[in-house]
Amino acid sequence: MADLDKSQASEELVGIRNTLNEYREAYYTKDAPLVEDNVYDKLYNRLLEIEGKYPDLITPDSPSQLVGDVTNDDFNKVTHDIPMLSMGDVFSEDELSEFNDRIEKNVGHEVDYNVELKIDGLAISLVYENGILVQGSTRGNGTIGENVTENLKTIKSIPQKLSKPLSFEVRGECFMSKKEFLNLNERREKEGLQVFANPRNAAAGSLRQLDPKNTADRKLDTFIYTIVTFDDLNIKTQSEALKTLEELGFHVNPTSEVTTGLQGVKDYIDKYDQIRDSLDYGIDGVVLKVNDLSIQRNLGNTVKVPRWEIAYKFPPEQAESIVKEITWTI
Ligand code: NAD
Repeated sequence: MADLDKSQASEELVGIRNTLNEYREAYYTKDAPLVEDNVYDKLYNRLLEIEGKYPDLITPDSPSQLVGDVTNDDFNKVTHDIPMLSMGDVFSEDELSEFNDRIEKNVGHEVDYNVELKIDGLAISLVYENGILVQGSTRGNGTIGENVTENLKTIKSIPQKLSKPLSFEVRGECFMSKKEFLNLNERREKEGLQVFANPRNAAAGSLRQLDPKNTADRKLDTFIYTIVTFDDLNIKTQSEALKTLEELGFHVNPTSEVTTGLQGVKDYIDKYDQIRDSLDYGIDGVVLKVNDLSIQRNLGNTVKVPRWEIAYKFPPEQAESIVKEITWTI
């Protein structure tokens, strides 16, 4: 890297961008990834490394400037007034410490983190008016998502009417349990259909069905983790937000913890890295969020990710790799 000159960097970036965009198209539009996530992540990090050295080589179509998904023309579009962003990620304890150092330097003191599991599904937005679900959508490219209201209404864990007449937007993850994923693939194999590579892709493919009856058959589930507008609710922390979401009738992942500084975060990571195989839903890491919402607001976002949260990504699961190998040989 040290001796990579600008023209070599430019040439390498063209190749990496093309390859990553091909992977993204397969993953986001077709729900059929060409490579495993860690292969994608490694190449993406190489892109960041080169762009970090030569920032003027960053192009608007670089995956580093784009939020996730590509939208499917078959669905009506929804505009996210507050963009649905991606998330920065780290892969080691050192990188985790660097993130924490940046936060502490910026804030001027140690902070509390709300630590949550990173559910391996797809992000959804739910809009309620006077307590009634009126719109549900995917993240799409962060600003424009797909309107999948009728499909989301088939998911049992999503309340269509809240216990209070609130008008607000919440966001969370739509996922397929491991058990349902195995059942679905078994059924598809018997029918001679291509099996899904992993529960994440199965969830994305199942939510983005043109006929809501097909979505209903797939038995999707949700964990909701964000209230987008807090104004009327007097909520000051992410942990209070989760408690309120639960009281309102949403399915909230029960494992989150508040911890001061990094040691508690590391303990949480170790604990869930060891038991993640035994969970009935896929996780691909742990998310740390600065708990205090006023600090979150002060830290703000980059063009692509919030500065107040980061994902620590686990190495790929053995079982998942095996499923993928099987998929690519059929
Ligand atoms: P991401 O999936 O790594 O992280 C952001 C997402 O995490 C959010 O949008 C949200 O949906 C989700 N999330 C889960 N639990 C959460 C929680 N508790 N709190 C907040 N958010 C939570 O980022 P991304 O931009 O959606 O996707 C990039 C990742 O997708 C890559 O790192 C790569 O692993 C994968 N990818 C793989 C391929 C491939 O070909 N295999 C292609 C493209 C992307």
